[in-house]
Amino acid sequence: MATLSARLADNVPGEFYVDSSCIDCDTCRRVAPTVFEEGEGHSFVSAQPRSAEDRRRALMALVACPTASIGTSPKADASEGVRAFPEPIAENVSFCGFTAESSFGAWSYLIERANDPAGNLLVDSPRAVGPLLSALEARGGVATMFLTHRDDVADHAAFRRRFGCERVIHEDDMTTSTKGVERRISGRDPVRLADDLLVIPTPGHTRGHAVLLYRNRFLFTGDHLAWSGRRRQLVAFREANWYSWPETIRSMETLLDYSFEWVLPGHGERYRAESPAAMRRELERCIAWMKAR
Ligand code: SF4
Repeated sequence: MATLSARLADNVPGEFYVDSSCIDCDTCRRVAPTVFEEGEGHSFVSAQPRSAEDRRRALMALVACPTASIGTSPKADASEGVRAFPEPIAENVSFCGFTAESSFGAWSYLIERANDPAGNLLVDSPRAVGPLLSALEARGGVATMFLTHRDDVADHAAFRRRFGCERVIHEDDMTTSTKGVERRISGRDPVRLADDLLVIPTPGHTRGHAVLLYRNRFLFTGDHLAWSGRRRQLVAFREANWYSWPETIRSMETLLDYSFEWVLPGHGERYRAESPAAMRRELERCIAWMKAR
């Protein structure tokens, strides 16, 4: 819980504040960009909410924050922020909110497939908190949890206990925490989970990193690929590359074989291109930029 005595000095006066426990994960700035800004190694409140929608977004950031570093004074009822998650993005894809500190605030996503016998799917693990578990239960539970890589597994075991979901991860990214998962992907070839779901191994960030392609439209990219609003382009994370940068480039090139319009990352900004052709052009630009680094 955020502490008023640890309120950062650069917050503007008013109801919302960020305290010194902030880990600079970027979630609040993406959820409520009119309220939160980037400081020196942390976020801060640069403008108090001016509208009901601003305030709702700030409350969403408060509950999505992995370290409970966002507070209000006087203490506010955050239920409006809680109820907002999972937050619809497009079609039946939602952002789960409730990020976990153990995955440094990585974003996880829900694919709702209520009318499909294959059931709902989570991409990476959010924080296993009661309100989110209940919201997922109300939507039909979780049948599958796809884990893009070893860093963003967070509370996967709690989701398995609650929903009995089949967890999927590449065997090269298994750790002590995930050695009991139900399904292991191996090798470099794509693996089909369902007619509309394809796992594509993308070694680079980690040895066993993989992305998930849904409906040839949505690409869930974990820590492999994201949009950078500052650079105005797709990027990979050279400074957070734990296995091999050349492999990351090769994996990025394999994505040119696929068609998609959305990039939905764990870290960094999401991106929607006007068309698969436009996405391909952005991907080619990203690869050229990576090769020059
Ligand atoms: S969401 Fe929380 S930890 Fe992340 S940048 Fe904002 S205040 Fe900091």
